[in-house]
Amino acid sequence: MFRAATVRLTLLYLGIIAVICLFFSVNLYRLSMRELNSSVSRQENFLRSAPRLRGLVDWNDLRSSRQSQLEEGRQRIIAGLINVNAIFIMLGGVGSYFLARRTIRPIQQAHDAQSNFAADASHALRTPLATMRAEIEVALRDKNLSLAEARELLKSNLEELTKLTSLSEGLLRLTKTDGEEKIWQETVSLGPVIEKAIERVRPLADQKKITVTTHLPNNFTTRGDAVSLVELFFTLIDNAVKYSPDGRPVNITVTGTGKSWEISITDHGLGIGADEIPHIFERFYRAKSSKSNGKVEGYGLGLAVARNIARLHRGDVTARSCPGKGSTFVVVLPKE
Ligand code: ADP
Repeated sequence: MFRAATVRLTLLYLGIIAVICLFFSVNLYRLSMRELNSSVSRQENFLRSAPRLRGLVDWNDLRSSRQSQLEEGRQRIIAGLINVNAIFIMLGGVGSYFLARRTIRPIQQAHDAQSNFAADASHALRTPLATMRAEIEVALRDKNLSLAEARELLKSNLEELTKLTSLSEGLLRLTKTDGEEKIWQETVSLGPVIEKAIERVRPLADQKKITVTTHLPNNFTTRGDAVSLVELFFTLIDNAVKYSPDGRPVNITVTGTGKSWEISITDHGLGIGADEIPHIFERFYRAKSSKSNGKVEGYGLGLAVARNIARLHRGDVTARSCPGKGSTFVVVLPKE
């Protein structure tokens, strides 16, 4: 599909180059012929006006030599123009092909990303749906299904439905935060934003006996959308708790450098391998350590959404980690 588009675009560029060449060639030909005509006429006039040559020159010979001079000149001009045009068309063909490839490349990349996203999303949706289907089919075939077993089946289906709901919410958030969309701009006090995010993580943190400590400065503000920022910090603090063994603390520290804030969320959990760090912000990417640790559920969408939110605020999120020792996620946001 993209190869055909590249060829079509190359031909289009080449067509444009050919039209430009033709335009210049026609005009160049006209100019050159006019110049040639006037130079031959000047010669003839000079000979006619010289009194010493009268009687010595055969005017018929002169006319026919003038004709052949003109014809020779015309052929030379045409040959020259053909050569120059051939070189231009050849160079233009190569240039057009590279230009067409450059034009098509970003469209192809966007298309590939879209298809990968659709493939990943359907793969993630298929697993819970297949589990539910298999469980229901087995239950329907069982003629002696007891009430307790039916309740167990419904409980398991409900768990799968909860996973599907969280997946669809993640996908929705991703599409909402993806791209150049403008966000709501207001002065946001980041202290309460982080407190709200911690409150949302509290049930899991309490369950795992993990304390989340904060050291927040004064005048800790940025411009943007408070709801999205709560989402951003919730994702990072939730991950810090999710991927830590019970009882390991999570610390949130803030430093103000120049025109921006650096908010670091540090845990003492699983950590992430250096080779995986560049990928963890990609959609649907889950590190090997967390995939093998089946207890921690997720779809690999949280960090992609978090980075989108930070970038919409003209900031960013980066990570550094030491496997087995812990990770630090740093959010950079502009000061108001
Ligand atoms: P999810 O947590 O739903 O899998 P995320 O996009 O939030 O998706 O995270 C992507 C992956 O990055 C996780 O699956 C996990 O492997 C890794 N990760 C994120 N945060 C941490 C952390 N604090 N400690 C260890 N691994 C982490």
